Amino acid sequence: MVCLTENRKPIESDLFLNFVPRMKQYFLFFIVFLSGLNALIAQNVMDTIQTDKGRILVYSDRTWQYSTPKNFDGVMNPYLHGLLAKDSVYRFSQRWDNNVCYTSKGNDLTRLRDTIWLCVQDSIHTNYCPPIKGIVTSRYGYRNGKHHNGIDLDLETGDTVKACWSGKVRYAKFNDGGFGNLVIIRHYNGLETFYAHLSKLLVVPNQDVVAGEPIGLGGNTGHSFGAHLHFEVRLYDAPINPEEVIDFKKMVTKDENLLVHGGLFRKGVKPEVHPKDNERPQVTPAVAQNKVYYKVRSGDTLSEIAARNKTTVSKICQLNGIKPSTTLQIGRSLRVR
Ligand SMILES: [Zn+2]
Repeated sequence: MVCLTENRKPIESDLFLNFVPRMKQYFLFFIVFLSGLNALIAQNVMDTIQTDKGRILVYSDRTWQYSTPKNFDGVMNPYLHGLLAKDSVYRFSQRWDNNVCYTSKGNDLTRLRDTIWLCVQDSIHTNYCPPIKGIVTSRYGYRNGKHHNGIDLDLETGDTVKACWSGKVRYAKFNDGGFGNLVIIRHYNGLETFYAHLSKLLVVPNQDVVAGEPIGLGGNTGHSFGAHLHFEVRLYDAPINPEEVIDFKKMVTKDENLLVHGGLFRKGVKPEVHPKDNERPQVTPAVAQNKVYYKVRSGDTLSEIAARNKTTVSKICQLNGIKPSTTLQIGRSLRVR
């Protein structure tokens, strides 16, 4: 642990306190790095200089600090620590609402200037369980000019989708914003996970779930083209790239902890604006094992596509949940096998 002061400017924690709830202390280990870690992550150490007072780290923005550890009693932000220590109620102050997807309006986490040390895996809670053991068919990030707020995992309609960590079901119903049948679980560290496009819900709001418990069956509901699980990880409604937390290949959490800082969140979008979740899996035949997709081009008709891919119109309709009369949008991926 490097020392945190010297000539680096202290960061105000007011903004942070505006949205940090009084959470159960053993759930969330807030460690607020008053002046350092956020900057450390964002800036590179350019050089180190050995002096008679100790080693100095020089950063790319020409600030510096001693790397010698100071006497550290575990409290990094005495003010925040005081608030938590006095809180005998231990309650979540993220709103608990079973009817809406998003519950904490106005928290622009890109403006977060402190770093929260969030525990993802600890001795109290059951281990991470993959929600579905499917391959990743679409990642977090921009695609077709829109932001994809989660990750898509391949599945067949009817496959069992499981809670990835223990927590409490905050939302379980059909969502007409694009998610289709959606389950949202709030976990004990404040993170929420979203499981979208389910064909069936197996849980009800306010139900406690443990990691690995079935919560729904995979499907193709909402704005979805082809059965898959759309999976999101959010903190105070702001999506985080699930791959920051989870290694989907090894099916484990990447680390016991997640350091939450402004850079984890998407800039330039007001936090209360949540674009509809347009699902168009960008799947290539090589990735999708035996599934084959075709991207609709201008002038294509279903019968032409069927003939070209040696299949039938009714088979394509069945695979994609469409009718022969459905208008095909250019660029749409259709599963043909
Ligand atoms: Zn998705």
